[in-house]
Amino acid sequence: MIAAHDLSALRSLARLHKVAVSELRTAEKRLFKHRLPVDEVLAALPEAAQAAWRGGVDWHPLVLAQRRDSQLDGASKLAFRTADGATIESVMLRFRTGRSSVCLSTQVGCAADCAFCATGKLGLRRNLTAPEIVDQVLQAARLFRAEGRVLRNLVFMGMGEPLHNEEALGEAVEALRDPERFNFADRFIVVSTVGVPAAMVRFARRFPGVNLALSLHSAREEVRRWLVPTTRRHPLADLRAALAEVSALHGGHTVLIEYLLFDGLTDTHADLEALVAFVAGIPVHINLIPFNPVAGTESLGLRSTPKERREAFGAALKQAGLKVTLRRSLGTDIDGACGQLAQREGALKAPVV
Ligand code: SF4
Repeated sequence: MIAAHDLSALRSLARLHKVAVSELRTAEKRLFKHRLPVDEVLAALPEAAQAAWRGGVDWHPLVLAQRRDSQLDGASKLAFRTADGATIESVMLRFRTGRSSVCLSTQVGCAADCAFCATGKLGLRRNLTAPEIVDQVLQAARLFRAEGRVLRNLVFMGMGEPLHNEEALGEAVEALRDPERFNFADRFIVVSTVGVPAAMVRFARRFPGVNLALSLHSAREEVRRWLVPTTRRHPLADLRAALAEVSALHGGHTVLIEYLLFDGLTDTHADLEALVAFVAGIPVHINLIPFNPVAGTESLGLRSTPKERREAFGAALKQAGLKVTLRRSLGTDIDGACGQLAQREGALKAPVV
């Protein structure tokens, strides 16, 4: 089976069935640029080729099994079934500015085991394939299109640690930014990692224009190791060195730092000082994120920092000369916010589309 994003295989198949160049270009445009449904893509081709493309291409390795729309904001959580019966989730995000974004998964479950995350509790089942990653984009783009919106931003921040699945991630990013295929702009793609230093540098070398975001959450070694156990193998000093190299590879551009604020754990004066020291000399933009409780985290003593203290933490960082944003979480009522994916996996029913 040919993957729907494999342009050279699609072109070979078209040549085999003597599809005219103009017809092929129309089909490609419908698929990659306009992200139209499969039937409309195939309609651009002569009949014989239509049958070959219909049967020979794996158009959708994922089946949309459930969609939940937030009643609070512009988020929709999509639950997809894979061919081997696993469930993964993506989140469509609609911002007031008109911007549309999708948060993508890269693994079924996750091995990073972050203390605050529902996905981490599942453990790792398997890596997603590149076609499964790309299909999340394609299906979300079509849903946005039906609403008259254009998907612009891709954020690899869903289920899984993207840099634990480097090969498929690389193939998917390649297809998504390819001008002949999906043509997403590098600056609108963000890959978020808990911090795998060598893989961060490899990724930045391969895709110097694509944004890497480091989910740091604490610049105190013992706290970070507890919050993100997988980072035990990667001391903060190694991470800092990788961050500096990534910034240099990005031409000195700012690197995003994601920082979850936990009451009394990551929001104290000592945390502030450690964070300022950790990023000193590296151009960064710090995103402060409110913690969204998931089942089981209360017994660990994890509580969200109240809003006023989040603002005070942000103001103190700004005073230290750093660029800071206080992120507003979307989709908290549909378990679609950061760390909440996979909470209700067992609640899935029959496909809805
Ligand atoms: S926060 Fe991300 S890296 Fe950590 S367990 Fe959850 S999905 Fe994995």
